Amino acid sequence: MRIVLLGPPGAGKGTLATAIKDNLGLLHISTGDILREEMKNNTPLGQEAKRYVESGGLVPDELVTRLIKNKLENDPKAKKGFLMDGFPRTLKQAQDLDKILVDLKMPVEWTLCLEASLDVILQRLTGRRVCKSCGAVYHVKNMPSKKEGICDKCGGVLYQRTDDNEATITNRMKVYTESTKPIIEYYKTQGKLKVLNADKEAQEVKELALKNLNG
Ligand SMILES: [Zn+2]
Repeated sequence: MRIVLLGPPGAGKGTLATAIKDNLGLLHISTGDILREEMKNNTPLGQEAKRYVESGGLVPDELVTRLIKNKLENDPKAKKGFLMDGFPRTLKQAQDLDKILVDLKMPVEWTLCLEASLDVILQRLTGRRVCKSCGAVYHVKNMPSKKEGICDKCGGVLYQRTDDNEATITNRMKVYTESTKPIIEYYKTQGKLKVLNADKEAQEVKELALKNLNG
């Protein structure tokens, strides 16, 4: 099965991506991970990407689509299908992605779109606390540490990321909604869109997603 996963920050996209790919045995395509991997292995594509990253610029769309194509062509796991997460972020990217996927005879089958209300996202993200030492993530209400402000795993100090504040989150949501609207419309027109209510608990969203994909 070949899936594109869309959703705003705080909708639980990462958790759902892991659950789906494990359940269906799919290759997880995260453009951030692919970039890091190629740069680490110093491949020709990685070297090309490095030049942009090191000069503080963005890696151009055209290079990102080539990285994805390269991954799909060379990773044997791609034959069972893939789950794409964090890409496309614009309509142009969605169209470019379609082109390479048609070339590879691996067109997108479903687009899962997580929808969450701003209230729920604010509650999730403003309550998030991260360990300074080991990076473990907690939530003041949903997943508190045993001792307030202290990491259960390593005893490190917990802090709130500066971008986990109401104004920043609200703005990120706005940007996400505006840039994603045309992508949603694009996949909807193709009859590939499945919308999921991500205000629910992670477990429930996962079950709903699998039911939708298998049904
Ligand atoms: Zn820790």
